[in-house]
Amino acid sequence: MASLTSEQLEHFKNKLVEKKQHIESQLQIFAKKNENIKNDYETVFEQIGDGAEENADEVMTYEDNLAIEHELEDNLTEIEEALGRIADGTYGICPDCKEPINIDRLEAMPEATLCIKCEK
Ligand SMILES: [Zn+2]
Repeated sequence: MASLTSEQLEHFKNKLVEKKQHIESQLQIFAKKNENIKNDYETVFEQIGDGAEENADEVMTYEDNLAIEHELEDNLTEIEEALGRIADGTYGICPDCKEPINIDRLEAMPEATLCIKCEK
């Protein structure tokens, strides 16, 4: 049940690769790539100063960055999985109901795994 043409697949592949690069560059702003684990980044704990207030700021920034880091990492994994589905020919098909995923949904979120009905 191939619902997407090879041109469409190419289009979504490009979108996914672009998105992946964008996320990786965002992660690199505050996190260090873990070379041993694929798609794992370590949020860098930034030292602003030694005062109590500065220390509190450091912890807050670190915690914020950590939350963003995990979100970006999850997104990165989803993108990689979507690229894998393009490679093995299952991209664009919802694994739950086996129906094609709406093209507008893929356009907005090319890494989507499930169709809108199953996502709910
Ligand atoms: Zn579905």
